[in-house]
Amino acid sequence: MLRTPIIAGNWKMNTTVLEAKALVRQMKDTLAYLDGVEKVMCPPFVSLAAVADSLVGSSIGIGAQNMYFEDSGAFTGEVSPLMLTSMCKYVILGHSERRNCFAESDELINRKVQAAVGQGLRVILCVGENLAQYEAGQTDAVVKTQLTKGLERVPSLERVVIAYEPVWAIGTGKAATAEQAQRVITQIRAWLTESHGPAMAQATRILYGGSVTSKNIAEFVGQPDIDGALVGGASLKSEEFISIVQQTSSIKGKK
Ligand code: PEP
Repeated sequence: MLRTPIIAGNWKMNTTVLEAKALVRQMKDTLAYLDGVEKVMCPPFVSLAAVADSLVGSSIGIGAQNMYFEDSGAFTGEVSPLMLTSMCKYVILGHSERRNCFAESDELINRKVQAAVGQGLRVILCVGENLAQYEAGQTDAVVKTQLTKGLERVPSLERVVIAYEPVWAIGTGKAATAEQAQRVITQIRAWLTESHGPAMAQATRILYGGSVTSKNIAEFVGQPDIDGALVGGASLKSEEFISIVQQTSSIKGKK
């Protein structure tokens, strides 16, 4: 099964609007030449419009880092899926920083996934165990619960990408090994087969995330079931991000 790999950059709460525009300027022309890889940039909300403007006519997609599940109403400070549709193709949901810093539950994340897909957005659904769970051997149980609860009442995976992000590897410089990531991702595909059938499970892109850099990306995308990466810190450095996409294109781009 040929799945187009994805490299998505999660800029988190970094960059002013001016800095975001400058970062896009540094990367977009080079990235445009790298084919066989879907490229996605996820800047903060306030820079989405400026980044969308800078990327008009480009093959680089834009993603938001979060959203609420209602389309409009008295939800001060929130951003709706409807608002994102004019600027974004993707939205990251269930990121561990949302789960941990903002107490997002699987139930809330599931409502967001349903709402995003309902509005035609593509979702990058993040799942992953924390250090204590990893050390207690609970990785599979935790990831399976987050995955199945996150995808309840989502009958089609057509607009869903999964990112396996062990929390202990995010922003720590201690990435999982490619073999560890491949093992969990193979499991995720098996669980998707149970819940959504083999055809959808085979077609769904599953990414690794957690301290991905230009130094280790080749090992991850060299694995048969890892379809790209969700990149945090390294997506803020143009040379790093370009190199990550470049290597993915040569290893996993269309053969
Ligand atoms: C992330 O933010 O999803 C992430 C994986 O961050 P980092 O690459 O910095 O570990």
